[in-house]
Amino acid sequence: MWTDELLFILHREAGEGDRPRARPEADPRTGSAVEGARFKLRARPHAPSVPPGHLPRKRWRMSLDAVLGEIRSCRACAGELPHEPRPVVRVTAETRLLICGQAPGRRVHESGLPFDDPSGDRLRRWLGVDRETFYGDPRIGVAAMAFCFPGTDPKGGDYPPPRRCAELWRRRLLEQLPRVELTLLVGRHAMDWALGGRAKPSMAETVGAWRDYLPDALPMPHPSWRNTGWLKRHPWFEDDVTPWLQARVRDMLAA
Ligand code: SF4
Repeated sequence: MWTDELLFILHREAGEGDRPRARPEADPRTGSAVEGARFKLRARPHAPSVPPGHLPRKRWRMSLDAVLGEIRSCRACAGELPHEPRPVVRVTAETRLLICGQAPGRRVHESGLPFDDPSGDRLRRWLGVDRETFYGDPRIGVAAMAFCFPGTDPKGGDYPPPRRCAELWRRRLLEQLPRVELTLLVGRHAMDWALGGRAKPSMAETVGAWRDYLPDALPMPHPSWRNTGWLKRHPWFEDDVTPWLQARVRDMLAA
């Protein structure tokens, strides 16, 4: 009883009103007194790691902001790219669906908005969401294998994403996204990085085995027009996989 009275006096002295705040609840995992509302965050089974002691939500946000700030000011590839680096990444502490593509294309490099191109239109169709939801719902995030446009290959297409980017940033960024439930591995680079030895010899085989990687990851082709032929040769992708994906996204956004 004396503790409540002491709390009352302390809060009154601090000018926090006439009633003491509720007693802190005990964290069932550690037995220590904590404010329960701060411990709603929990690690998903596939989350790479959780900071010791499960940092409060505010601290997670600060850490994510810090990593994003470092990424946005990264110039590690300056001098190797045919332009000034312009990292494009769009995630929040609320991200549940993480879209991991290859690297921004020229148009995204100019606009700074991921998938702001015809590939993005096809991707949104596969997801069953409109532009407003795609860019406005904090539960949808985009973090490609490289955050800067790698430049155009004179032989056609864009250069592959510089591996340095994933080595520098990927683990640090994913550690700050504990709420991710499903990661879309869009294209071969993302599949190889995330699946390692679990990836099949070809993209078609990996995507064909999509059920093997659920519920955490879904390998899929890049929605670029360059893959239109692939999609025609593999109609099961849009017949089977995209309806499943639309239902999963619908459930995720309704929760
Ligand atoms: S591609 Fe990645 S590592 Fe290279 S400059 Fe951009 S953010 Fe930095």
